[in-house]
Amino acid sequence: MSALPNTRATLHMISVSQAWHEISQRIPQPTSSTCPLAKALGRFTATDIQSDIDSPPFDKSVVDGFAIRLADLQSSQTLLINETVHAGQTPTQPVKTGTATQIMTGAPIPAGTEAVVMIEDCTVNLASNTVAVHNTTVTLGSHIMQQGKSLSCGNVVIAAGSKIRPVEIGLLAEVGCAEVPVATQPNVAIICTGDELVDVEQHPQAGQIRNSNEALLISLVTASGGKAIPLGIGRDNELELFDKIQQGLQSDVLLLSGGVSMGEKDLVPALLQQAHVTEVFHKVQLKPGKPLWFGQAEDRQQRTLVFGLPGNPVSSLVCYILFVAPMIRAYQQGTRGDDIQPDSYAELTAPHTLHGDRPTYHPGRLDWISGKWSVTPLPWSGSADQQALAQANCLVFFQPPQREYDVGEQISVLPFPW
Ligand code: AMP
Ligand code: MG
Repeated sequence: MSALPNTRATLHMISVSQAWHEISQRIPQPTSSTCPLAKALGRFTATDIQSDIDSPPFDKSVVDGFAIRLADLQSSQTLLINETVHAGQTPTQPVKTGTATQIMTGAPIPAGTEAVVMIEDCTVNLASNTVAVHNTTVTLGSHIMQQGKSLSCGNVVIAAGSKIRPVEIGLLAEVGCAEVPVATQPNVAIICTGDELVDVEQHPQAGQIRNSNEALLISLVTASGGKAIPLGIGRDNELELFDKIQQGLQSDVLLLSGGVSMGEKDLVPALLQQAHVTEVFHKVQLKPGKPLWFGQAEDRQQRTLVFGLPGNPVSSLVCYILFVAPMIRAYQQGTRGDDIQPDSYAELTAPHTLHGDRPTYHPGRLDWISGKWSVTPLPWSGSADQQALAQANCLVFFQPPQREYDVGEQISVLPFPW
């Protein structure tokens, strides 16, 4: 095998939206399975989810109080207490004129009830088993939640392709969805390349750095809903790296980091081509993240989407946020997400100069200050500087041509997607 370093001249550098267009066209249709409710957080629904009940399942009281008839409020007489109904019990007697039933929050309303008055508006006389009502502002139906008011049996409560967040988990539980139909998660293999890399628990020796990208990419993939499969460090050695690439091609997605620029040991593009991965594009008009490589491998069984991410951690992160995160989402959601350009705006709190002619995504801090969104580009010394990210919660988008951006300008931001 002979894999020459990727020394060919840069071909046409495509734009961020063209790059996304190329990626999005190649995302396969989602497949589905089921998963227990307790493990469904972060997954995507594969079908519409219907309710198998009315909610509430019966007319219920939403306060602790007394079920009464409205006419009894006109006379100032005391009412005879029929019984007390707790949540989980059923009333045994109707509410008739001159009587009231003590009722707790969540308990079914007795027949004949026209309203519930709150306990705070009543005085109970235990000796005579009666209640006097002080508040006469209740009207027909006060403090009663009618059967099916929140949802009806057969209603679609969650549409197919929805991300399952904690609020969906609660709703799925209410409608009895113990096994949730979910889109299959893509398996995402991760190979971080570089002779200089050592494992996180080691102290780097001369010329070495820790492999921070692996931990970063595993957590990004997990946060996006993919299944991360780390394959360890890929040394800048043709045979070894080729083997790891072959292993990675058994997954739905393969992420490599490093080795995609123009250095003598940047072996990734040539080795990918030897492994029959078809290059779709190499290099995107973007900063940081220009060296991004993307291609596709296909055999009878499966398609693998392959991303050669730049080695520098912030470049890798920017490429991940722009391209990999929406791809993993679309993989499960079945939609293509037409536009990945930032569509949120905030007011710039500090001046900023855009250097160069590439669209630039700069780590920033987005805050709600005095009734508006404000964004501050963070001090940042380039694509190897992860320190700035600890303060960041967004990428600030500076568009060419190069110029000074002034305080108070409205500027596009891309909030971190997790
Ligand atoms: P490369 O594209 O392989 O030339 O890498 C570009 C820069 O990113 C170099 O300074 C590498 O040392 C650094 N780098 C590459 N891989 C990693 C990694 N896994 N973790 C942290 N930094 C990395
Ligand atoms: Mg390298």
